[in-house]
Amino acid sequence: MISSFKKINKLQFVRIFYWLFLTYMVAAFLWWYVALVKQNDQIANVQYGSFQTNDPALTQKVHAIQDYQQRKNKQYIGEGLTILFLFLLGAIYVYRSLIKQIRYSNQQQNFMMAVTHELKTPIAITQLNIETLLKRKLDAEQQKKMLTASLSETQRLDNLCNNILLASQLDMGAYQANAQEVSLSLIVENTATIFKNRFLERNFVTTVQENIYIKGESVLLQLLLNNLIDNAIKYSNAKDPIAIKLLENNGLVELSVADLGVGVPASDKEKIFEKFYRVGAEYTRSTKGTGLGLYLCKRIAVFHKAKLEVVANTPTGSIFTFTYLLN
Ligand code: ADP
Repeated sequence: MISSFKKINKLQFVRIFYWLFLTYMVAAFLWWYVALVKQNDQIANVQYGSFQTNDPALTQKVHAIQDYQQRKNKQYIGEGLTILFLFLLGAIYVYRSLIKQIRYSNQQQNFMMAVTHELKTPIAITQLNIETLLKRKLDAEQQKKMLTASLSETQRLDNLCNNILLASQLDMGAYQANAQEVSLSLIVENTATIFKNRFLERNFVTTVQENIYIKGESVLLQLLLNNLIDNAIKYSNAKDPIAIKLLENNGLVELSVADLGVGVPASDKEKIFEKFYRVGAEYTRSTKGTGLGLYLCKRIAVFHKAKLEVVANTPTGSIFTFTYLLN
């Protein structure tokens, strides 16, 4: 919490410092312009002073100096405005890059903290369960409960590792694509069954049309679905149902995961697909997560030349839809 405040202060400090610095630079620039114009006037006055009043060419000479002065002033204004424009353009570019960089590094730090936490929790729970099973004589029902909980934790760990691995492979351009004709119906059915067994207390409502085949990678599609269902579980109440639907209509395949949870604020509908982005301030957020899931989902959708969008559900919650056009 304290470190989040520090990060915010750092961002605010950079903002304030940068705008003060920019204001100073622009003020100094204007000051130099005024000084140049004044100097120009002074030179003209010195020249006027050297003229003889009875000089027959006096008017001509005065006009020549005035013309020269006007030309110089126009030159200062023209060149000054161009330099100011280029300077402001550069300053805005640097400012935006700087803020983006600070935000990104903050998000990366949050990600590292979240990952450490997300890795340690399932390991600790599984370890504790195994120790209890070894030390104590439990009845079959209790043993099953502990083993199911441990299995669920290892699956969570597996999903997290897959996410991190895929993200780094994609970032390094090292991911080996291997698209084939796959049964999306089977992937959805199998994944839904795994979640139903893992989260016995949750109500999953599945509508899966049979024999829908698409050209894709089953590992990636599974990861996409895992992340969407994981989020639906995380961001909704335990009593609320989660609807998983796969339908095909006129060559348009729609895979959706809908929940009745907190929903995504309109202003964050695009941002949630960015790497490490999580809704809300870090110190007010209570759910666990890394901000990697939806970023990968989006990339998986792009890989399949599909679309991934989120809309608000009624009365609350959100619907994430993966839309794929069959050839
Ligand atoms: P995280 O690990 O934080 O869940 P994601 O990339 O999966 O990372 O999601 C990014 C953010 O999008 C989340 O932090 C959450 O704020 C928001 N989000 C994702 N799915 C949902 C959902 N089903 N309902 C509400 N908010 C969601």
